[in-house]
Amino acid sequence: GELRFSDLDEIAELGAGACGEVTKVRLRGSSAVFALKIAYYDNNDPEGEMVVLRRVAQSGSPYIVGCHATFRSPADEPAMLLELMDAGSLSRVVRSRGGRGLPEPALAEVAARCLAGLVHLHSRGVAHLDLKPDNILANSRGDVKICDFSVSRIFLGPDGESRQVSISVGSSEYMSPERFKPNAHAGPHGACAADVWGLGITVMELFLGDTPILPADVTSSWDKLMEVILYGKPPSFPESSSASGELRGFVTSCLQKDPKQRSTVAQLLAHPFVARRDAEASRHQLREIIVETM
Ligand code: ADP
Repeated sequence: GELRFSDLDEIAELGAGACGEVTKVRLRGSSAVFALKIAYYDNNDPEGEMVVLRRVAQSGSPYIVGCHATFRSPADEPAMLLELMDAGSLSRVVRSRGGRGLPEPALAEVAARCLAGLVHLHSRGVAHLDLKPDNILANSRGDVKICDFSVSRIFLGPDGESRQVSISVGSSEYMSPERFKPNAHAGPHGACAADVWGLGITVMELFLGDTPILPADVTSSWDKLMEVILYGKPPSFPESSSASGELRGFVTSCLQKDPKQRSTVAQLLAHPFVARRDAEASRHQLREIIVETM
């Protein structure tokens, strides 16, 4: 029957983000546990997040955090009952490794799964626009999945027609140069290209761990950050880094400043860093790393 809010018992707090709160809940009278996300503030358009979730997260993609139901809390706030990811975010995983980044086989598995998640989203007309280690969740089976559609945009209308969407949303450190232009908009290709840049920064960060990509005096000032991303060379690994040629090449393909020069998701799926990984060994290493941090 219909799920009622009063049937959910709170077990623990999982996270408090910019626009709401996530708690671990149990469905009364059963052993089923979920993550309940309640959006408090309407600055990020929580109604939009519910619409996106219905489009992309109720269809059971193994690369997207599942959504079992969308409803309203007793205080009439938008509420979402999500698949519980018991290992939390990849940023938490790296933090609890003492800031050590992921080794390349595990990282290639993360990249492959994010790309598969982007295929799922983009083919349904959704650009995520906030891809970052905070928004990639893990579980004890070793799965990693994309979450948090609070700033996502729908670039295909009900009849499949293209729409221009705002891309000047999201977290500035992960934003591609073209998104810093005032009132930046893009059609399907441009919106998807924005996610590719976000993936490139995410992959760099997951490799580097707590070694920052950009110096703190840059990231602490929006103006400086914008200047460096718009007018500087794209971020790349220092020469002294142990990153392989494949990893460097993958990141370079993602971090092309001109969105037309940037690789597409389909091209990246065929990139040797991802396509030539030993999938079995990569998956095993990723699961071991996740479980060690729990
Ligand atoms: P916000 O839009 O407020 O940033 P998120 O959807 O990113 O909210 O969730 C905030 C945090 O809550 C995440 O970084 C994660 O730690 C935790 N969280 C969110 N969804 C889940 C989930 N399905 N399972 C486990 N933890 C979750």
